[in-house]
Amino acid sequence: MKPIISLIIPCFNEEESLLPLYKEICSVSASMEEKYGVDFEFLLVNDGSTDKTLEILRELSCKDDRLHYISLSRNFGKESCIFAGFENCAGDYIAVLDADLQHPPSMLAQMYEGIANEGYDCVSARRSSRAGEPIIRSFFARSFYRMINKISRTKMVNGATDFSMMTRQVVDAILTMPEYNRFSKGIYSWVGFNTKWLHYKNVERAHGSTKWSFSKLFIYSLEGIISFSTAPLIIASVLGILFFLISLIIIIYIVIETFFYGTPGSGYATIVCAIFFIGGIQLFCTGILGQYLAKTYLEVKRRPIYLIKESKLSEKQKS
Ligand code: UDP
Ligand code: MG
Repeated sequence: MKPIISLIIPCFNEEESLLPLYKEICSVSASMEEKYGVDFEFLLVNDGSTDKTLEILRELSCKDDRLHYISLSRNFGKESCIFAGFENCAGDYIAVLDADLQHPPSMLAQMYEGIANEGYDCVSARRSSRAGEPIIRSFFARSFYRMINKISRTKMVNGATDFSMMTRQVVDAILTMPEYNRFSKGIYSWVGFNTKWLHYKNVERAHGSTKWSFSKLFIYSLEGIISFSTAPLIIASVLGILFFLISLIIIIYIVIETFFYGTPGSGYATIVCAIFFIGGIQLFCTGILGQYLAKTYLEVKRRPIYLIKESKLSEKQKS
């Protein structure tokens, strides 16, 4: 039996990208099928698109029996799509790539060689530069990686994308992490295994537009920090201790000033400032606690990560 490579592709409103993508993966797979004697499965996951994405997937799957699809009941986000793909793919090697051709399928051959010939468990693409990205975004991205690598034991690589190919073993390991808050960069790093990094240059999106606004990215980075580090809780406690000590010093100072020097306690303004300042810090710390509590709340509910409305899967997977 030939080994099967499954390509998992999350799609959210990608009607313009799908045909160019299909053309590209067909040509890449044809040359790889010939060169390495492998078979392909294309598993596209429709993430509740509101455009013609699903219609195109249905059509393509009728024409090409290597192309399977899962259509989710609503928009669950890219991470959920990848998880749905992992659970429903048939491949011995599994690759994840974006639908918008920003992850050049031509790199798949190199990835396959990394696994099949060099013995790596996972080969991932890493952007070598952030050229073409807004400066503020690059700055925040760099700061995020610097911070997360300081405060979390799970190391994350700056510029790492989720464009990667893995062995079945790695995917099975990832599937044992059924957490609801999925921050895949952290999850990939947490499961370990040998990863080879391939550098590539950022490619501009050819069709459609990005689904990530700055605020979405910012919230996503907070998710990463909270999912893989408890350091913010420590910061909250340290701040608490610090302010307790400061207030102790001030109390001693005031007591000495009043009893030994007889100066009356000074002013309204100082008190108001202190109340606002400490109140702010308290709210900040409660906020941090709240974030962890919210995540825990969502986890203990054990809601499914995705729901399928319609699908066409390979015979091997269905059995
Ligand atoms: N995507 C998705 N669900 C979403 C948002 C995005 O499945 O809610 C898919 C999208 O179709 C694309 C990939 O995730 O295939 C990457 O999205 P995008 O290109 O918008 O992100 P960027 O490349 O700007 O990081
Ligand atoms: Mg993109």
